Amino acid sequence: DGLTAATPEGLLASVFGFQSFRPGQEDIVRAVIAGRDTLAIMPTGGGKSLCFQLPALCLPGLTVVISPLIALMRDQVRGLREAGVEAGALTSGNTEEETEEVFAALDEKRLKLLYMAPERLASGAALALLRRNEVSLIAVDEAHCVSQWGHDFRPDYLRIGDLKRALGVPLAAFTATADEETRTEIVTRLFDGRAPETFLRGFDRPNIHLAFEPKNQPRQQILRFAEARKGQSGIVYCASRAKTEALAKALVEAGHAACHYHGGMEADDRRAVEARFQREDGLIVVATVAFGMGIDKPDIRWVAHADLPKSIEGYYQEIGRAGRDGAPAETLTLYGPEDIRLRRAQIDEGLAPPDRKAADHGRLNALLGLAEATACRRVQLLGYFGEVLETPCGHCDLCETPPELFDATEPVRKALSA
Ligand code: ADP
Ligand code: MG
Repeated sequence: DGLTAATPEGLLASVFGFQSFRPGQEDIVRAVIAGRDTLAIMPTGGGKSLCFQLPALCLPGLTVVISPLIALMRDQVRGLREAGVEAGALTSGNTEEETEEVFAALDEKRLKLLYMAPERLASGAALALLRRNEVSLIAVDEAHCVSQWGHDFRPDYLRIGDLKRALGVPLAAFTATADEETRTEIVTRLFDGRAPETFLRGFDRPNIHLAFEPKNQPRQQILRFAEARKGQSGIVYCASRAKTEALAKALVEAGHAACHYHGGMEADDRRAVEARFQREDGLIVVATVAFGMGIDKPDIRWVAHADLPKSIEGYYQEIGRAGRDGAPAETLTLYGPEDIRLRRAQIDEGLAPPDRKAADHGRLNALLGLAEATACRRVQLLGYFGEVLETPCGHCDLCETPPELFDATEPVRKALSA
């Protein structure tokens, strides 16, 4: 019956085919339907799309979705149409027929979701078009693209604030980038500095075991870690290309299936490694951070860092490639004074403006803080992202083996009285 089917729960099942909301989704959906400005920060794979697609079906008129990639938009539009939802996209990738179909659906007031590339906002025609329609909501996917210091900066995202003002409708922004600086930039640029209702959760990956070790014999430490997990798929991240090659060789000599991967390799060779890793069980890829973006292997059982990553965000992303299937996965991160010097130098010698460099040093410092933590690493890691974990996780090296706090009173007293 129409009435119950139009509730969020009803639509979740009938249109999207899901039995229940994922953590966080329901609260976001309710806030968006209630017409509040919202900012939702959820990790990749957390289910952000649903948080604007479902409200779009409950709200009258049209939801405009701004998304940075044509491929992403087409994918979502296809999925929605297959589910029987009236959705369309206006992008430079459209055929003429596709565009005409979208205009026809708009004219007939049928369309529920209109995906638009941000470049579209540059022309007055887009605004005129949207003004002729009843727009209830602007949804901004990958909202961190508005951040000028981020790697994904898209200048046209800066026009979204104007669009919101011109249409006078609520805006819901979505991103997986949780750091404070980016969040502040999103609020300034998309919401005119007026704080939206903010949702932040889902960053915990409880199946991933966290551990750090000071570097003393780095190669032996990595070989030992790999040996204990022989036959399982893993990634070892290194700070340099030369090191990936040397360490892969050492692993092969120790009887592992291993190969190296870095940005200096021919594209064909890189693709061959990616394909092999995807296909084979138990391969170890020793890589620079160039390896990962396109990796979608659910059963990576471990990730080791032979060198300290460059930031706490980098660390989180890289270890997050392990255990996507939810089964137990393990990580080990080595760090030493030379890592810290290297990472500092990389920031200082980079071309970023001074305030960006200061922020990068801050992200490195946060990672050092995590490396030298004395209590639950997960509490500290999630705390960095703004998420509160109420109790120690019990599943990191520090929870399992609390460090013996050295009581300095006696030696100090002796030293003073000597
Ligand atoms: P994000 O944009 O946060 O990276 P997506 O919106 O692409 O995540 O969703 C990731 C996957 O989770 C998709 O395959 C989606 O169909 C699935 N998904 C989303 N919400 C639910 C849910 N409530 N129940 C089951 N699967 C879901
Ligand atoms: Mg997404």
